[in-house]
Amino acid sequence: MNHSAKYELVVGLEVHAQLQTQTKLFCSDLTAFGAEPNTQVSPVSLALPGTLPVINKKAIELAVKLGLALNCTIQHENYFARKHYFYPDLPKGYQISQHTAPICEGGYLEITVEDEKMQIALNRIHLEEDAGKSIHDADERNTCIDLNRAGIPLLEMVTEPAIHSPEAAHAFLTELRRMLRWLDVCDGNMEEGSMRCDANISIRLQGDQKLGTRVEIKNLNSIRNVKKAIELEMQRQIECIEKNEPIIQQTRSFDADKQISFPLRNKEEADDYRYFSEPDLPAFVLSETFIEKIRSGLPLLPQMLIEKYKQDFGLSEYDANAICQDKEEVAFYESLVTYLPKYKTMANWMLGPIKQYTNDHQISILEFPLSPLRIAEIVSLTESGKIHFNTASTRLLSGMIKRPGLSALDVATELNLIQEQDGNALENWVSETLNAMPDKVKAYHAGKKALIGLFAGEVKKRSKGKADMEKVQQLLIEKLQQNG
Ligand code: ADP
Ligand code: MG
Repeated sequence: MNHSAKYELVVGLEVHAQLQTQTKLFCSDLTAFGAEPNTQVSPVSLALPGTLPVINKKAIELAVKLGLALNCTIQHENYFARKHYFYPDLPKGYQISQHTAPICEGGYLEITVEDEKMQIALNRIHLEEDAGKSIHDADERNTCIDLNRAGIPLLEMVTEPAIHSPEAAHAFLTELRRMLRWLDVCDGNMEEGSMRCDANISIRLQGDQKLGTRVEIKNLNSIRNVKKAIELEMQRQIECIEKNEPIIQQTRSFDADKQISFPLRNKEEADDYRYFSEPDLPAFVLSETFIEKIRSGLPLLPQMLIEKYKQDFGLSEYDANAICQDKEEVAFYESLVTYLPKYKTMANWMLGPIKQYTNDHQISILEFPLSPLRIAEIVSLTESGKIHFNTASTRLLSGMIKRPGLSALDVATELNLIQEQDGNALENWVSETLNAMPDKVKAYHAGKKALIGLFAGEVKKRSKGKADMEKVQQLLIEKLQQNG
């Protein structure tokens, strides 16, 4: 029996995103990734006695920006609390967090799963500071601590338990990461840890209202692993229930190499963090003007731009979505269609030859060696029939990449790629070809119509590859009919 049909999967995600601020949440230490350990650590990050936190306004702006883009309600009066716990990488002994009073409440993110659009409800988004990092492999005997990360601003985004398939979790995180990057809120890099995700997973009988006991999985360092971990955990829970074993509320860790999860700790009662409001930070009040200013500065969001490309440019949903993967690609595409408003053709270039080149060389569109102007020059050659797309996207493109300073026409001329369209030249080649092969022409008229391919190949040879082959095909048919 297929047990997956008997049970419903219930998932809630908690996503932490490092904000793209220059400096930390409560002091002016830099946040750049990859610095020598403990070089971005002032007395505030170290929590030395007598230091006082000062809120970073940029972090608040980014939180509001994301909240507005995700349709949340923005809280006007905000304050921080201390969340106490002991850990070597937390020098203060507490984390300053908005856990009890989030800056953004509610909201949703729209995703598409197997062509079906759905909205995933959010519970809240709140600001908090990051902790330092324990490093276990730098020293044989000791665990080392790097406090560069301590105090970096984070947004924690928490969904409702409203995700019901591993695919939907994958789509949610992909869409969320696109939004974070689109808005310059977070670089979304899961390998470097600037976006981190914990998955809360339970199952229940189809139709049940009450939530099942949940298991939280940590250390998921890619979107693919989140999906995989959910699939495995769902199976594990189904097997437990089918064997009449209880599901224990616990925290598990995912091992990406072995593709398994194992228990870290059981969670019988809620942790006691002894929250109390942070006495060193006054409440911060957001005015309507402040919020409206951020709202009016929002760019067109991915889904709106996709809609615009479908409506105004006639692109398919698939193409529009693919171009809107990130705003750098959008900027390139917008530049292309400004030079030459051939929307569909330009989309084909973006998603065909250009994408292939950037994928093959593992570079972003920002590093693509040709400017949008150069691509527009190529397209104007293909549109006017001077060169065929197949030649343009292979020999011409690679020739231009070697010499990006030259125009498409210069490179095409130099490489002898411009198609001969002059009717007289084409007619001569066609006549010569047919005159040289009287037997084949006879065979053609006797019914071997496939010989037209042979004639075309011969014309191509005589023209040294420069003949416009569509025109050649037409001419051949005409001539053969005449002397048939
Ligand atoms: P905590 O504060 O202990 O982390 P929350 O109530 O804030 O717990 O929930 C954390 C996440 O777990 C949220 O995304 C929520 O939707 C999800 N969640 C809560 N209960 C369940 C459950 N029974 N099954 C699946 N997800 C759940
Ligand atoms: Mg939590």
